[in-house]
Amino acid sequence: MPVASSWFGGPKRLLWSFALVLLLPAVAVGWLGLRLIDQDRELESRQRLERRDIAGERVVAGLERAVAATERQLRDPRSGISIQPGADALLVTMRADGLDASPTAHLLFTPDPPRAAPEPTTEFTDGEALEFNGSHARAVESYKVLARSPDETIRAGALVRIGRTLRKMGRPIEALAVYEDLSRITRSHVAGLPGDLVGRRARTALLAELDRRDQLRASARELQADLVARRWALDRGTFVSYAGQVREWTGEEPPAMAEREALSDAVDWLWQEWRRGALTSAGRVVRRHGSTDVTVLWQPGAAAGPGQGDRVVGLVAGPRFLAREWVRSLAPVGLLDVAFVNPDPQVPRAAPAAAASALRRSAADTGLPWTLILTDKPGASDLDGSSSRRRVVLAGLALIVVVVLAGAVVVARGVSHELDVARLQSDFVSAVSHEFRTPLTSLQQFTAILNEDNEPPPAKRRVFYQAQARAVSRLQHLVESLLDFGRMEAGAYPYRPEQMPVGPFVSGLVAAFRGDGTPEGFVVDCAIDTDSGDITADRDALGRAIRNLLENAVKYSGDGRRIDVRATRRGRVVAVSVRDEGLGIPHAEQQRIFTKFVRGAASRMYGINGTGIGLAMAREIVRAHGGDITVESIVASGSTFTVTLPAADTARDAIHSRGSS
Ligand code: ADP
Repeated sequence: MPVASSWFGGPKRLLWSFALVLLLPAVAVGWLGLRLIDQDRELESRQRLERRDIAGERVVAGLERAVAATERQLRDPRSGISIQPGADALLVTMRADGLDASPTAHLLFTPDPPRAAPEPTTEFTDGEALEFNGSHARAVESYKVLARSPDETIRAGALVRIGRTLRKMGRPIEALAVYEDLSRITRSHVAGLPGDLVGRRARTALLAELDRRDQLRASARELQADLVARRWALDRGTFVSYAGQVREWTGEEPPAMAEREALSDAVDWLWQEWRRGALTSAGRVVRRHGSTDVTVLWQPGAAAGPGQGDRVVGLVAGPRFLAREWVRSLAPVGLLDVAFVNPDPQVPRAAPAAAASALRRSAADTGLPWTLILTDKPGASDLDGSSSRRRVVLAGLALIVVVVLAGAVVVARGVSHELDVARLQSDFVSAVSHEFRTPLTSLQQFTAILNEDNEPPPAKRRVFYQAQARAVSRLQHLVESLLDFGRMEAGAYPYRPEQMPVGPFVSGLVAAFRGDGTPEGFVVDCAIDTDSGDITADRDALGRAIRNLLENAVKYSGDGRRIDVRATRRGRVVAVSVRDEGLGIPHAEQQRIFTKFVRGAASRMYGINGTGIGLAMAREIVRAHGGDITVESIVASGSTFTVTLPAADTARDAIHSRGSS
């Protein structure tokens, strides 16, 4: 690590540098990917605009072609314009002598109704004089004479007047019967209107006055049906006023009226324009009636025959005709939805949807009768699967980022583990150096004293030699421990198993420890169950493991001065435990302390010497004997380390040194 450390300034920073090196390309790739997607989207929107413009031009050209084809058909007397049975359009031919509309039945009112014959007036002069002087009964008599006239118009005129007078006289029931008679006279006219229509309307109005609801509804419905079925050729004004009144009585609109009304209204307008002489050249307009837009085309047509004069042929087309004849022919354009808007600024207009992205082609630009609003068809916007392409790029980017991050996490964990190991090793080296320094220093000191003092008294010399011997033995113990642990780990330690009773073995260990390992004031209690049984073990190795536990109990005793050693038989195992009342071990450390070189927080906090291999070695030895070692501990209360070993009768050949297996 030294090279890396000098370059990057320490393992932590090395880790950060590594993360940075890994993350920078990931961020760069992500950024580039996003830019790519952005550009792709921009390109696509530009392409879409271009395509929409082209499609828009095609729509305009297609519509122009379709409308022009219809106009050609109008000019041709043998016009092939097909109008649907439900009448989505009306074909109108206007001549000086009148107007033909086809299908006629679809027209609600007649722009040029036939003129009624002049009204007979003189016949009624006497009766009316009596009526207006208040002699109602005599007036009725006078009218009744005329009501028998063979002339139907005089008869109708008389009946109207009788009905009127009877009502003035407060005899409405009789008036009702008179109006009924009148409604049966079909070829007559009263004040320019068909007599039967006048009779039926008067009767219905009287029923309303009399509040005869059922009769009123029936009569009004029949009248409405006949009006709509064009029983009478009425002009627009009369039709509108009669239809309006009848609608009030029935309270309902006859079905499919809106389009018929709009078409009839447009025919009427076209006729009025023709009469004004305003239709000299061909034309196209859109007219709004109610909420229905009607397209009106007209073409000056050739004379239909000799002596018949000029004529103008027009087409009044409803929205259904427009969709059927003109829009359907645009089908191949496919990309756009087309809305036909009335260009008349007076016409109120619903806010156009998606106005921002819509393409607008005004009537003035295109020469078509409508303003066109062209919008992208939903679903048509994904050009060449570009959005799925973008999804793939995004998924790829996400994958790269995930892989890089996962890789970074794995490597970071690996590196941090290695760093931990390196730190442990360096801690171990400094701990071992410290352990060596103490006996070496004392050796050095005593050797120096012996060197300087030429003739030390024998007693003093012995003390010095003993001190030197202790230092040497400590060094030897330390070195042997390290070497043995290395061998054990490598599986090369030569265990020498022998069967022995646990009791004497443990009490012997405790006695030896009491003799040379226990500082002043410590009580080491040893309790051995009589039936604790035998074990098969390497006396030295297992002895060293248990001694490590005893030494730790003293080292980490804090203020506690009592150590309890127990040996018991628990079924098929023998348990040897060492309990102290010392510092205890935090729960978080209880597993880790068995790992080599790991030292607890307490050892650092209280400056307790050690190398961190005592427990690791104890576990290595116990496991080699087929047993295990566990700890229970409470901080500031003490710890109990328990070694469990198979009892000898169950543990034939239990020692399985990795080297010898
Ligand atoms: P060392 O004692 O040299 O540090 P060990 O492997 O013997 O190494 O012990 C590892 C750690 O376990 C010690 O540093 C100490 O924190 C903790 N430990 C071991 N025995 C005891 C004990 N009896 N009481 C409290 N802590 C203990």
